[in-house]
Amino acid sequence: MKNKMQILREKAVLCTDCEDLVRTRKQVVFGTGNPESKLVFVGEAPGENEDTSGFPFVGRAGKLLDKVLEENGLFRNEIWITNIVKCRPTIANPDGSLDNRPPKSDEIRACSKWLNDELSILSPTVIVCVGGPSASVIIHKSFKMTEECGKWFESSYAPFAIAVYHPAYVLRLQGAFYDKALELLKTDVAEAKAKFAKEKSQPKMTLF
Ligand code: URA
Repeated sequence: MKNKMQILREKAVLCTDCEDLVRTRKQVVFGTGNPESKLVFVGEAPGENEDTSGFPFVGRAGKLLDKVLEENGLFRNEIWITNIVKCRPTIANPDGSLDNRPPKSDEIRACSKWLNDELSILSPTVIVCVGGPSASVIIHKSFKMTEECGKWFESSYAPFAIAVYHPAYVLRLQGAFYDKALELLKTDVAEAKAKFAKEKSQPKMTLF
């Protein structure tokens, strides 16, 4: 029998709500990992590699994320990884080739039904927002990475939510800036893992 996440995925991959994205996407990139996981990473949107493979975070940024996860003893088959927008947003170059672009607010809004349903199936304890746009959806609208990255928030999607630097942002930096940002990304993922482990070990306070 199909589980709730498989059923949701089957509906999401047929979505045609955003005309622009539908026109250029190769496929819908739904979340992956362990659908039972209570530790969830939410990024921004698929890029070219994700659009081609059908899986989130498989390009350069994804490889760096994997490295940071693995250094923290976290593996994709134990967690859930998804994006606020499930189709690749693109901008056309004069030669007709496509570049990635950030999702527009109406695209984020249109896609929120999939994210809402996905997160309500998962019912996460800890959400790690990978980058500012995700934090603006999960934590609060006017989220500022410069001031609020690495801090804990309560979210309507999870009792604990934290934002970490997006690995794509880290990869754009150089020298000491790169080292510092990567260190912060590692520290914040370690913090998320520790919070998750602590909350998992707490006895549940239920009345019955
Ligand atoms: N960046 C994201 O935010 N998500 C992906 O899946 C890939 C790159």
